[in-house]
Amino acid sequence: MEKYSVLAILGEGSFGRVLLVCHKNKNQKYAMKEIRLPKSVFGAEKSWNESILLAKMKHPNIVAYLESFEDDGHLYIVMEYCDDGDLMQKIKLQKGKLFPEDTILNWFAQICLGLKYIHDKRVLHRDIKSKNIFLTQNGKVKLGDFGSALLLSSPEAYACSYVGTPYYVPPEIWENTPYNNKSDIWSLGCILYELCTLKHPFQANSWKHLILKICKGYYNPLPSHYTYELQYLIKQMFKKNPKNRPSATTILARSCLAKCIRNLASAEEQAKHARSKSCDSETEAMAKGFCEMGLEKAGKDETSPEAVLPNPHRQQWEKGRSSSVIKILGNASLLTSSITTKEDTSGDVRRYDENVTRKQWTKEPPETLMNILRNADVSLAFKTYTICKGGSDDLLRGPLTEDIKTSDEPDGEIIMEDAERLEPRSDDEDTDFEADDDPDWVFELKRMTKMESE
Ligand code: ADP
Ligand code: MG
Repeated sequence: MEKYSVLAILGEGSFGRVLLVCHKNKNQKYAMKEIRLPKSVFGAEKSWNESILLAKMKHPNIVAYLESFEDDGHLYIVMEYCDDGDLMQKIKLQKGKLFPEDTILNWFAQICLGLKYIHDKRVLHRDIKSKNIFLTQNGKVKLGDFGSALLLSSPEAYACSYVGTPYYVPPEIWENTPYNNKSDIWSLGCILYELCTLKHPFQANSWKHLILKICKGYYNPLPSHYTYELQYLIKQMFKKNPKNRPSATTILARSCLAKCIRNLASAEEQAKHARSKSCDSETEAMAKGFCEMGLEKAGKDETSPEAVLPNPHRQQWEKGRSSSVIKILGNASLLTSSITTKEDTSGDVRRYDENVTRKQWTKEPPETLMNILRNADVSLAFKTYTICKGGSDDLLRGPLTEDIKTSDEPDGEIIMEDAERLEPRSDDEDTDFEADDDPDWVFELKRMTKMESE
């Protein structure tokens, strides 16, 4: 720790803080995540998970890792400092003024490249959201915060305690079926939607309606001036069946993104030449990555996770478990650390949802699910994740939540049901992989709840 001097606090959360530090000898700025180490051996091991995984990730669109160490009951993870904040901040700064499509595609392509890289390594991020995407002033976009990530082949893998951030959680999580690479793709879809609309795709004032909207796929259409490509991509990523969502590789092969990647690659090449012979391995890796992606065609050359690790074992899940999950979640409010109570509604907000016919909610969410939600206790262990106990007026408000003046009555909202979301994709080239250990996270949660109360 003596090697570094602390310059500022970049962020704070339930885990601890992220500090802006300066390496005294190198005279270089870094971001340093400071994590309070839990007393239990299990908890301490889990804290190390993030640094172990991050250390293995070397890609221009993943926050680079420098080192990690323990000091005075804390774990410190030193990583590259992204000097242009996170994507959520960027979206909020827009104050309602929509991003140009070029910017959206450029950022989105970079996020996809990062995601493809980790998926190729059989790593699931499990907390993809705009707050975990970081930017640099030279236009690079990087996937960060591997605190929830999971390496699937690892025997210590803990798919058990995953909940994620409810706004970005795919239907399969609420239904307690295994999380897989396509679950990250759903969350990626949420990010693309936010980039296009500056709003969360699924918003609600109650758990009931949030879960219902996610499971039914109710979201407002994109502003009409965006191209069909964007609309199409979002539609594909929000397919209910994970198998029908495209992989990061397939997304990157879409012509609009392939073009974008070629542009990024040539810009990198030029920058590299300008820097002449300076040995910049990151740039080389980036240019190589871009070129490879630029050459790929849809469905071709895909380095599927199956190809990397043959015979992935598919976990069979007990269907009946979903009730337990919801029992633990019941009455919980969403994590408030990233929530702002006041949204700036000034600026150029486009009313793209006018003229959309109002739809009556015809179906109730699963009956048992709602019964459980009504009476459920909250697991204290969730406090350290993304669900926490206690209600507030801002229940279910996210950073991009609109001011919903109406009540949460179904017919007070404009919703769109996408009938095609249940249909399979025509290009069925994609691969899925999921946890191959026993992801008994209900059991694990119970264990943790017990530990907390002792
Ligand atoms: P958590 O979400 O678990 O609280 P994060 O790793 O996402 O932790 O960091 C929290 C916040 O700290 C981020 O939202 C971001 O604002 C800031 N931050 C984290 N890592 C970096 C980084 N490498 N560069 C710049 N800011 C960072
Ligand atoms: Mg985060």
